[in-house]
Amino acid sequence: MENFDVIVVGGGPAGLSAALSAAKAGMKTVVIERGDYPGTKNVMGGVLYTKATEAVVPDFWQSAPLERPVIEQRYGFLSGDETILAGYRDPVWAQAPYNAHTVLRVKFDRWLAQQAEKAGVMIITETVVEDLLYKGDNVVGVRTGRAEGDLGAKVVILAEGVNAFIAKKAGLAPQMRPDTVAVAVKEIIQLPQEKLEDRFCLEPGQGATIELFGDSTQGMMGTAFIYTNKDSLSIGVGALLEPLIRTKWTPNDLLEALKAKPYVKRLIQGGETKEYLAHLIPEGGYNAMPKLHRQGVLVVGDTAMLVNGLNREGSNLAMTSGKMAGEVAAQCIQSGDLSDQGMSLYEQRMRDSFVVKDLYKFRRLGRFFETHPHFLKVYPEIAANAMHLYFTADETSKKERQKQIMKMVFEKRAKGGLVSDVFGAWRAIL
Ligand code: FAD
Repeated sequence: MENFDVIVVGGGPAGLSAALSAAKAGMKTVVIERGDYPGTKNVMGGVLYTKATEAVVPDFWQSAPLERPVIEQRYGFLSGDETILAGYRDPVWAQAPYNAHTVLRVKFDRWLAQQAEKAGVMIITETVVEDLLYKGDNVVGVRTGRAEGDLGAKVVILAEGVNAFIAKKAGLAPQMRPDTVAVAVKEIIQLPQEKLEDRFCLEPGQGATIELFGDSTQGMMGTAFIYTNKDSLSIGVGALLEPLIRTKWTPNDLLEALKAKPYVKRLIQGGETKEYLAHLIPEGGYNAMPKLHRQGVLVVGDTAMLVNGLNREGSNLAMTSGKMAGEVAAQCIQSGDLSDQGMSLYEQRMRDSFVVKDLYKFRRLGRFFETHPHFLKVYPEIAANAMHLYFTADETSKKERQKQIMKMVFEKRAKGGLVSDVFGAWRAIL
């Protein structure tokens, strides 16, 4: 049996970041990936954040296959055929060190794997890890689906993404329930560069993102997104499994309904669908996070439920957790302390980082939207009606208009409800 210092299960951003940092610390490291190459199985919207990425590969923007630097972020609500939008554009984000880029994971993950290989990581593809190997209670390696496929290791890092089969077997399972997992579908729609830049008012090479709530998910807890790539748009929608099951909407029907909305239709008009992808997103947040370590094992990225859905962040949490896990694995191997206690250094570092702090901050959010569904349905409707009334110029005086708006608001949501909603939202978000 071949032996390594560190075995990483899964070649996504979390696993490859873990492998890179372990190898940089001098560890003999291998990544085992079930796909033909890293990236083939992976799906993201996908906005890649600079800070977390450059911590793993400094100056990555000089060689990574990036689509466009994001200079504008728009947020909006759809209510029926109406659209309410707000956004922020900052041309500074078009230059190094940037804030974020759009990427296509099939290209980006493959490139990241090449950086890991340059740092000395061995990458074994087309191989599924089936279980951990134990000596007594101690984890001593992994069993793969290949003949004579056992590999030994001092530390195993579980970066297998949302399904977390091995983590579940190891008793490090995140709480996967219909209310902690979202299903997302996405299309890549090809469009000529100039057309794309015209439609989004962008200078050549610049990019924009749009996040849409409300009727973009038929009022379900979730989001729709449209991101500009070099010569295509990534358009998708994701919603929690629980309301999807309850309402019998399929993710594909949600996407088709989104594409038919007047605002969206115009953006994708004339484009040709090149790819269709689907994936789960772990949305349970802080309350569904598993324990992040045990003797000889660390859990990173989606396997550990590290996704901040509100801020559309997952890849950066994955990379940050991966980097820390690789560093802690090396530290524990060097000190010879692979006990559960020794490995808990990783969880401590994670709790001190923005990753767990952010998840903790928004720990009430999922439950809040569950108990206040009108935030995603009634309030967008109220806002759209109010804007319609306010911006329609006729012979009604503005004072009368304001009265009409207030009447409409209280008809749709009683005063008491409004006050408790504001208080609840304050507690969940601020
Ligand atoms: P993954 O990327 O899922 O990688 C896991 C890897 O493990 C895969 O390569 C898989 O093939 C491999 N694997 C699994 N099991 C085994 C096994 N047993 N043996 C061997 N290999 C195995 N995040 C953002 O930051 N920005 C966004 O815009 C964004 N948009 C998103 C849109 C969608 C539709 C989705 C689904 C997610 C989005 N996310 C976004 C979240 C982000 O994609 C994830 O948080 C991130 O990919 C997690 O990385 P990971 O390495 O933990 O898992």
